[in-house]
Amino acid sequence: MRIVLVGPPGAGKGTQAAFLAKNLDIPHISTGDLFRANISQGTALGVEAKGYMDRGELVPDEVTIGMAQDRMKQDDAANGFLLDGFPRNVAQAEALDAVLKKDDMQLDAVLDLEVPEDEVVKRIAGRRICRNDSAHVFHVEYNAPKTEGVCDVCGGELYQRADDSEETVRTRLEVYHTQTEPIIDYYRAQNLVVTISALGKVDEVTARAMDALKK
Ligand SMILES: [Zn+2]
Repeated sequence: MRIVLVGPPGAGKGTQAAFLAKNLDIPHISTGDLFRANISQGTALGVEAKGYMDRGELVPDEVTIGMAQDRMKQDDAANGFLLDGFPRNVAQAEALDAVLKKDDMQLDAVLDLEVPEDEVVKRIAGRRICRNDSAHVFHVEYNAPKTEGVCDVCGGELYQRADDSEETVRTRLEVYHTQTEPIIDYYRAQNLVVTISALGKVDEVTARAMDALKK
């Protein structure tokens, strides 16, 4: 099964992608991991990407597409894959279609995780991270630490990342609306879009997604 996962920041995409990939026994391909792997292995595309990043420039679509293409050809992706964070605009979606077509492949579904905008803001802006370990994550409302501002796990100080401020979240949502959301219409025209609500517990959302994908 070849799946693209889309959804606004704060929809829990990374978490869902990991669970779904495991349930479906296909690799979870995220752009973050693609970049890290190519850069650490020093591939030609990795070197190119790093050049742009070091200059503070955006990595061009062709580079990202090239990395995704290489990854989709690896053995573990023979039965499919789940793309997370890519494509992020219509140009990338068109390029992905072209690349797949060349290898006689096509997407089976585009899973769209839906979360109301105010909920996204609440989820992200309420997040607090431990200064000792970024895996110690809390939420002022949904997963409050026993003592305000103190990590339950190690006693470290909790803080809000600059990226998680309400203002930044609103900006990220705006970027999502203008650049990424149009790909949903693009894929809708191909009858590939499956929309589910991303509200509720993580396992509930995974179950909902699995049900929707089976249909
Ligand atoms: Zn901690």
